[in-house]
Amino acid sequence: MLKIYNTLSRKKESFRPRKDKKVNLFVCGPTVYDFSHLGHARTYIVFDVIAKYLREKGYDVFYLQNITDIDDKIINRAKEKNISPQKLASGFKREYLKDMKALKIDAVSEYAKATKYVKEIISQVERLLKKRYAYQIKDGIYYDISRFKRYGRLSKRTALQAEDAVSRIDEDKEKRNKGDFCLWKFSKPEEPKWKSPWGEGRPGWHIEDTAITEKHFGPRYDIHGGAKDLIFPHHEAEIAQMEAISGKKPLVKYWIHSGFLTVKGQKMAKSLGNFITIRDFLKENPARLLRLLIIKTHYRSPVDYNEKLLSQAKKELEKINEFLDKLKNQKGTAQLAARNPKLIRNLISKTKKEFDRAMRDDFNTPEALAAIFNLVTEGNYLIAQNKVRPKDARHLLKLLKEIDKVFNFIFWKMPKEKIPQALLNLVKQREECRKKELWQKADELRKKIKELGYRVEDTKVGAKLKRI
Ligand SMILES: [Zn+2]
Repeated sequence: MLKIYNTLSRKKESFRPRKDKKVNLFVCGPTVYDFSHLGHARTYIVFDVIAKYLREKGYDVFYLQNITDIDDKIINRAKEKNISPQKLASGFKREYLKDMKALKIDAVSEYAKATKYVKEIISQVERLLKKRYAYQIKDGIYYDISRFKRYGRLSKRTALQAEDAVSRIDEDKEKRNKGDFCLWKFSKPEEPKWKSPWGEGRPGWHIEDTAITEKHFGPRYDIHGGAKDLIFPHHEAEIAQMEAISGKKPLVKYWIHSGFLTVKGQKMAKSLGNFITIRDFLKENPARLLRLLIIKTHYRSPVDYNEKLLSQAKKELEKINEFLDKLKNQKGTAQLAARNPKLIRNLISKTKKEFDRAMRDDFNTPEALAAIFNLVTEGNYLIAQNKVRPKDARHLLKLLKEIDKVFNFIFWKMPKEKIPQALLNLVKQREECRKKELWQKADELRKKIKELGYRVEDTKVGAKLKRI
């Protein structure tokens, strides 16, 4: 049985979706006003792995993610750049999706742009007003937190703390309670606006998510994920909105929150100026390295990003690469395998079991990773002992491919190698010698090419180079 740590109960709970094997999963997406950084990469790698694991276990996962494309940050940044907020948001949405693609974060079933759900947002605000959970003041419509008795149940508090992600400052002297948050904001001149029964304006942040999830999933669903700085006020507000509207609870059965990516113990954040963009990281490092680096830590623990962690991950990746090379090039000379045919079979089933046991325990990726590295160590030992037949090597590769459906860092198509011009010249010279039937000279050139680490293969369409 899969166990998941639920923020709502602060306990690991057995995972039982609301309906059979169907899992509706919603994860808070980015506010697209700038390039995404490694902190964002962490969140989305974590939920990519979780969604992929659930699918591997036979769950039918619909993974929905919103994209906040209207927000104070977007409006302010657009002003600075002297472009329209729409243009800024659509540009950075594109860049965000490019980053996700580069990191092979591809488990999301659908991205939902907030501005496409204005009709649903207005409907939710209307219902909240009707039920008197919301009230109108000069600058917008607010949620009255004193009306919702369970407010604070998820976060165990009702007041802001320094670490909370705040999208906009919902400060207005007319508010009934200090913690009341904005549902609909009347627009100032030159700001993006939509028509509503209360005048032109734009949606608040928290209401986006419940409007989107109600449309796709209804008033209740299985899992809501996000980084832990969203617990308060963002997720607390979502519960207050949707449960007040529907009268049904809980909005979400399992709340999963990922830890921060820190630099010297401090959260990586744009506002703190200590961030590395995904783009910049990928200029220097392969994308699979970032996936491995994130998977090395349990999703709820902080990842402190530093040189040591980076070089550790690099070494581990190298170790995996070497092992894969050995497996792929395993020749049929293994002698001792026949004496113990169960050797590899046992190793494979042990690894599978360890991997699954770790993942079933609240997605314990570092332990699952340890199972992979145990396999590498034992596999290397058996190869050195000449106990791995080509058939065994194929089975081991198959196992790693299965595991990689979840982790997605082991097998990665390498960029095409650039063959030096000098080497290409040698091939050309050899071709010419062969045409002129200068066999001895052609053979000498072949040897020269071999010394450079390549083998020439003569095909119908000409000579081809293969790395030795
Ligand atoms: Zn959200």
